[in-house]
Amino acid sequence: MTQIGTKCVQAGYRPQNGEPRQIPIIQSTTFRYESSAAMGKLFDLEASGYFYSRLQNPTADTVAAKICELEGGTAAMLTSSGQAANFFAVFNICSAGDHVVASSAIYGGTFNLFAVTMKRMGIEFTFVKPDCSDEELEAAFQPNTKAVFGETVANPALAVLDIERFAQVAHSHGVPLIIDNTFPTPVNCRPFEWGADIVTHSTTKYMDGHGSQVGGAIVDSGKFDWTAQSEKFPGLTTPDASYHGIVYVEKFGQGGAFITKCVAQLMRDFGASPAPMNAFLLNFGLESLHLRMKRHCENAQKVAEFLEARPEVAWVNYAGLKSSPYYELAQKYMPNGTCGVVSFGLVGGRDAAEVFMSKLQIAQIATHVADARTCVLHPANATHRQLSEAELEACGVGADLIRLSCGIEDADDLIADLAQALETK
Ligand SMILES: *Cc1c(COP(=O)(O)O)cnc(C)c1O
Repeated sequence: MTQIGTKCVQAGYRPQNGEPRQIPIIQSTTFRYESSAAMGKLFDLEASGYFYSRLQNPTADTVAAKICELEGGTAAMLTSSGQAANFFAVFNICSAGDHVVASSAIYGGTFNLFAVTMKRMGIEFTFVKPDCSDEELEAAFQPNTKAVFGETVANPALAVLDIERFAQVAHSHGVPLIIDNTFPTPVNCRPFEWGADIVTHSTTKYMDGHGSQVGGAIVDSGKFDWTAQSEKFPGLTTPDASYHGIVYVEKFGQGGAFITKCVAQLMRDFGASPAPMNAFLLNFGLESLHLRMKRHCENAQKVAEFLEARPEVAWVNYAGLKSSPYYELAQKYMPNGTCGVVSFGLVGGRDAAEVFMSKLQIAQIATHVADARTCVLHPANATHRQLSEAELEACGVGADLIRLSCGIEDADDLIADLAQALETK
């Protein structure tokens, strides 16, 4: 199995003789063992197996294995949301007193998690623009920096990150690059091929694609050598007192240490585990991901070109447009397309956006993106409502910004819908 489409359909699960062709939903909290001794080995991480679905569940692991193959990683886990995935990915290697360099163009929920909630836990973040100069990026590092974080294609700013450049700088400081690859999905970009070390996802978006479950995933490339500067990552390179002193990198190797520690400590203690049924629904989405991503991108490209040619439209941001400052980077990292999300502003600004959106018939107003059904959102009046005009500008989400998530309907219908909404006054 070498091609991404085949992996979307079949990776992660290979039924044996007489076993179900569809992945089984193991809707069970617990698993039975013949002796306490056998179960004890699981609790000691001496043997692998399931004992309680707060930590691990076979259905979730089957789907995680598929995502692992799609990204080209060595180990993966599902979480109950994208928020949990990003929190775990960072908290797995950072403690109070540590510091992280993050792109400022990231999902608002992640920004809040980092800048407010994790700051309260004693972890500091320095935010840099994704297109900052090398000097600015260098200047963001501190002796206690433990990771660099960014999004391949930022939601909703749609900035494209120069993954290779960020990976090189992170590695020169002895720390991993964590990439949230939610928008392009591994169908359009595989960050490990460009030097990223850990990849996260909100599987709620394109991976599910049908708006049916909230979920997340974390994948390890297995390429980061935690022992090279082992004093930076004591959680992986020194004994874990909560598991009789095992050392994760020694026991599970470079390819398994990060995810094993994340499950054994963070899932155990925080319990952000996905429901088996949700993992099953996610797998449904994954089976058609390669077909849907192609259509999302085709539709978004046509819609972006249509909008750019209209006099009522002040500006359009889509990395597939030659006018986009991210066009070159998108060609390099995502030659088959970035995602289905287009942002734009109308000549009439904030007020015109409200009128326009109320006229749309096919595109529906929803706090969601990356769905089979086209949806539209005015962040200044919804997700970013609390922010002042100045704060909106600072995070790259102007008061006039309309975020249009192109679904997999027919492009002609989407364009006709946009045209009638632009024309009716
Ligand atoms: C939605 C989103 C998240 C958060 O994921 P949830 O599944 O909503 O918790 C994180 N990162 C990106 C890029 C997102 O779009």
